[in-house]
Amino acid sequence: MEQEIKNCQNCKQEFVIESDDFAFYGKMGVQPPISCPDCRFKIRAQFRNEMTLYSRKCDLCHRSIISMYNPKSPYTVYCEECYRSDKWDPYSFGQDYDPSQPFFSQLGKLFQRVPKMAIFSDHTRPSVNSEYINYSGANKNCYLIFNGGDSENSMYSRGTRFLTDTSDIYFGQKLERCYEGINVNQSNGVRFSKNVTSGVDSDFIFNGVNVQDCFGCVNLKHKNNYFLNEAIDRVVYKKKTEEIRGSYLKIKNFSEKFQKFSLKFPRRENNNLKTIDCSGDYIFESKNCHNCFEAAVCENCKYGFFVKNSKDCYDFTGFGYNAELLIECVGVGFSQRIIGTYWSENSHDIQYCFSVFSSEYCLGCDSLNNGQYVILNKKYTPNQFNEIRQNILKELQSKGIYGSFMPPSIAPFAYNETIAQDYMPLSKEDAIAAGFRWEENLQITKGRETLKSENIPDNIKDVSDSIENEILACVSCGRNYRIIKQELEFYRKEILPIPRQCFYCRHKQRVEDGGGLKLYDRKCDKCGKQIKTTYAPDRPEIVYCEQCYQQEVA
Ligand SMILES: [Zn+2]
Ligand SMILES: [Zn+2]
Ligand SMILES: [Zn+2]
Ligand SMILES: [Zn+2]
Repeated sequence: MEQEIKNCQNCKQEFVIESDDFAFYGKMGVQPPISCPDCRFKIRAQFRNEMTLYSRKCDLCHRSIISMYNPKSPYTVYCEECYRSDKWDPYSFGQDYDPSQPFFSQLGKLFQRVPKMAIFSDHTRPSVNSEYINYSGANKNCYLIFNGGDSENSMYSRGTRFLTDTSDIYFGQKLERCYEGINVNQSNGVRFSKNVTSGVDSDFIFNGVNVQDCFGCVNLKHKNNYFLNEAIDRVVYKKKTEEIRGSYLKIKNFSEKFQKFSLKFPRRENNNLKTIDCSGDYIFESKNCHNCFEAAVCENCKYGFFVKNSKDCYDFTGFGYNAELLIECVGVGFSQRIIGTYWSENSHDIQYCFSVFSSEYCLGCDSLNNGQYVILNKKYTPNQFNEIRQNILKELQSKGIYGSFMPPSIAPFAYNETIAQDYMPLSKEDAIAAGFRWEENLQITKGRETLKSENIPDNIKDVSDSIENEILACVSCGRNYRIIKQELEFYRKEILPIPRQCFYCRHKQRVEDGGGLKLYDRKCDKCGKQIKTTYAPDRPEIVYCEQCYQQEVA
């Protein structure tokens, strides 16, 4: 089929369906999308709440637990142990399909009846002494780690693996003693930096490879003892950097100065590595992937976000790992031929399900293990299954939504509880106008601060242990937050000032600084070639195509 321009049914903007997209939709047997890629991301993301955590009780064992489900929400929520136990039977919630009612409203009712697992954790790789984590496994003594794992003594990070004694990272792995980093990898003692590989004891590095004892440097490779991109005597370096480190104001001033300084240098159109015919950002070792972000080892994928090892997948967020032929999925891995599903593992031929494992041929199910020919949690013979399935497909096809994700009306979370608000923030009014839910009560406290930001000692060396007992208020959003013991120790050891923003604002800033999930058409500032980049054309940065960047910088 030819390329087609459509109007998004949500935001009314035009979007394009390419001719090879039709081939994929044909292969999956689904209808082409009715919403634009951004709206599709927003709709899926309402099934993914990583960071909004609540305290509540397990509805089975009544233990106090941390949960991503708001205590006011209609769901029955079990702790992981109860959820994975045989103390309850998902089939006891089985419903008949009623052809006179819309399928998705029946599915929504099922979701509200079947217990939910409090947080998303990886039981095959349990964490130790790390209660406040989500979408994360194999952590030890960690605090507020999301979408990652395999870490120790680390805090306040998202999209990370193999962290040790590290805090405040967005997207990075194999880090030790690092702080405030975006896309920092295999580094030790790197702080306030972005796009760094193999850095050691360096601060304010932007695009650096194998740098050591560098401070405020851009586009450097294999260098040590550099200050603002100039070689500097070791003794002078020490003196200059020691003056800044540890002081909140001096770090803040230097950061502003460095932002301006870095604008003089060209940057790459994207941060992709070892890719063939790919568009997007932070794509590694992949082939023929388009509009993908934070994707590694993928092939023939489109609109993939935070995914690994996937092949022939469209519109999918999170996980991957041996995933093939997915469309409109969230948190699906080790699975094949999955449509419109949230969280499936080791399964195939699954459609519109919520948490199904080691299952096949299931449609509209919740919390199944080893399910086979199941619709709305009711078991059927293969023939019955196919007959009912055909009726449901007919209904969805008549509405043009077979292949679209489950509608926001049955999403388990409000827009502002989920990663949708991190990546495509909306005001309350706009979210509601778009048909999304909004949560007023996020269990945030404000106005209870016992120590005002301006009264926090400027330098970490003047901060006493008593700060652990204080309640602070974020300078950006006013949210109250605390400094935990492990954190204070970390700041002291690494000579870092107490942050004046809460974790959520720090994270939000890193997401923004990471570049976002949107590509713009722009011209290379050197050769004029058309490029696709996350730098909007009106931004002040100098952006080069890959070739020009390598010629000039490498
Ligand atoms: Zn749209
Ligand atoms: Zn329990
Ligand atoms: Zn804040
Ligand atoms: Zn160029």
